[in-house]
Amino acid sequence: FNYLEKADPDITAAMKREINRQETKIEMIASENFVNYEVMEAMGSALTNKYAEGYPGKRYYGGCEFVDEVEQMAIDRAKKIFGAEHANVQAHSGANANTAVYQAVLEYGDTVLGMDLSNGGHLTHGSPVNISGKSYHFVAYGLDPETETIDYDNVRELAHKHQPKLIVAGASAYPREIRFDIFREIADEVGALFMVDMAHIAGLVAAGLHQNPVDYADIVTSTTHKTLRGPRGGLILCKEKFAKAIDKAIFPGTQGGPLMHVIAAKAVCFKEAMDPEFTEYQKQVVANAKALAEALNEKGFDLVSGGTDNHLVLVKLLNKNITGKLAEKLLDDANITTNKNAIPNDPESPFVTSGLRLGTPAMTSRGFKEDDVKKTVEAIALVIDNPEDEAAMEKARAIVKELTDKYPLHKNFGKDL
Ligand code: PLP
Repeated sequence: FNYLEKADPDITAAMKREINRQETKIEMIASENFVNYEVMEAMGSALTNKYAEGYPGKRYYGGCEFVDEVEQMAIDRAKKIFGAEHANVQAHSGANANTAVYQAVLEYGDTVLGMDLSNGGHLTHGSPVNISGKSYHFVAYGLDPETETIDYDNVRELAHKHQPKLIVAGASAYPREIRFDIFREIADEVGALFMVDMAHIAGLVAAGLHQNPVDYADIVTSTTHKTLRGPRGGLILCKEKFAKAIDKAIFPGTQGGPLMHVIAAKAVCFKEAMDPEFTEYQKQVVANAKALAEALNEKGFDLVSGGTDNHLVLVKLLNKNITGKLAEKLLDDANITTNKNAIPNDPESPFVTSGLRLGTPAMTSRGFKEDDVKKTVEAIALVIDNPEDEAAMEKARAIVKELTDKYPLHKNFGKDL
């Protein structure tokens, strides 16, 4: 912080407190990750100075020859990783990517099938408080109450009944593999377009550890900052026949100038995603999630669907007589960061909930292996099973300190950057 510290000590101090928080707590929010310094260098670069409305070779501003190179590399790398015909790397976020797709292929009021928010879907898949739910007629599908996995028969039934123009698959809190092949069959049966939002699992897909939605969907959206471990941002992949409509829906449809510094960081992340080390990282993310599920089961925690195939688990807290809100607060006091999450048929409101979402991408980036995950679960159980016991809390904090000391995150941060 050579420059920032002198110019703005207040912001610098708050940033240092945040960096220390990341260093001293175990991060288990399933949608978060720790990017490396290469990605951060690209984000904190002079490319932020450039306006580049338009696309490589077709800009509305002069001086774009070098950012053209950057954006073209990002596009080419994204296409290569996922085997896509077309890539748009300009979406500022996952929500923007989804909004642009709807703008590209739907008319206001069209019927769309999307996963219910309280069953694991995302706000942008038709929630009434989101522009998606306000602009289009979303019909929600959900989980089979017995297996707590996606009820594909119900999806089929709803598709035949409502004849949607678009079917959306993808989730924010779903611990099992999503069968994109079955969704494709259903979409074909009713003549619907098929979109996948792979935001949560993009890293697993890049590493070949999950069915690749590009093989089945007309359009695929993603974020770049979750399992993919890139900068905060969005991505759209599609068949060539949707390329023009998608590009137009991003710019000029819903966005202005692209964030060229973030696009450079996306390109860096995409290069890393092609490295064999990245595949090893993703394998460890999945192995750690399996270890997490097993250890939680051993400690008497109920999990939605009983376990996990991916990077996250969803804990049902009803048998522990504690709300998601209180569990999140107690774990935070023990230096474990999580988020409360609704579970199927949750008796509590979305602000309270009866569930907890736990993910392994960030802790795995830090170096955690299965044994470390098991120790983390010991700390979680101590806190949740003994909510008013200060000795248990102290014991949990000691376990966390041992683990965070074992795997320093960015101890040089603030000196180097
Ligand atoms: N899609 C899914 C499945 C998500 O889980 C999220 C974020 O959690 C988003 C989209 C939105 O991404 P962003 O926060 O970048 O707008």
